[in-house]
Amino acid sequence: MDDRLHAFVLPELGVRGAAVRIAAGHREIVERQPYAAGVARLLGEALAASALLIAGLKFNGRLSIQLQGARALGLLYAECTSAGHLRGIARGGEDSAPADGFAELTRDGLLVITLEPEDKGERYQGVVPLEGTHLGEALEGYFAQSEQLPTRVLLAADEHVAAGLLLQRLPGEGGFGPVDPDGWNRAEHLAATVAPAELLSCDPELLLHRLFHDVPRIDAEPLPLYPRCRCSREKVADVLRRIGREESLAAVQQSGEAVVTCEFCGKTYRFDRIDIEALFLPPPPAEGGPASLQ
Ligand SMILES: [Zn+2]
Repeated sequence: MDDRLHAFVLPELGVRGAAVRIAAGHREIVERQPYAAGVARLLGEALAASALLIAGLKFNGRLSIQLQGARALGLLYAECTSAGHLRGIARGGEDSAPADGFAELTRDGLLVITLEPEDKGERYQGVVPLEGTHLGEALEGYFAQSEQLPTRVLLAADEHVAAGLLLQRLPGEGGFGPVDPDGWNRAEHLAATVAPAELLSCDPELLLHRLFHDVPRIDAEPLPLYPRCRCSREKVADVLRRIGREESLAAVQQSGEAVVTCEFCGKTYRFDRIDIEALFLPPPPAEGGPASLQ
């Protein structure tokens, strides 16, 4: 089973949704660091959730889910782009006591959802307190506040697989013709029959067939998902430019090079003194300008 995102609409029920199951990508991301089991599970659930949420976007871009400021878990970040690129990371908080459950890990934290369009467009960020007994519930609370559309989010993860199912009532009649007034209730009842073990073990297409085989369903082309970082030598160079020449050169003093490692993917970028001096050279004259006439 490849890692894929399946988006769909159930026109008769007035519901849209998405199902996802991430195995190879989840393992690759959580195995990069020695996460505690509870943190790895939560990171997997956040990765699955970021994919489910990108399925509802009307534009190309990226969506991130961040858990910030909890005492036990300093930061958890999961991102999915509309091209299906995943990345994620977690960092410990001030509390050194090991925490495993969602409530202990996220106590006093915030849930931050950020949408960033690829082209020009408004970046949107929504922030709500991290509440509930699991991440799906916290996200449902977020949707209730921000979009005011009834939404169910089921998530599950273990050390091998992360998976999820999202159902959301379409606004108004949904534009697909007559809608069963009891459609949302029917969809919710069906979702309630899905146990975490089934989410983890079942191919999303099979799961959707089991749940919704007796109502019409419109499927989008499944989106393959895979880990891919956005880091690059150019981005690291921009960071060094912002830090400034003196500070960047100071980083080279001891070992002869400044070594910057990407926290997400572990890739290492090395800059020696000459590389750094080159970053701070004035830009070459633009083509077609007076210099090119010489
Ligand atoms: Zn990277």
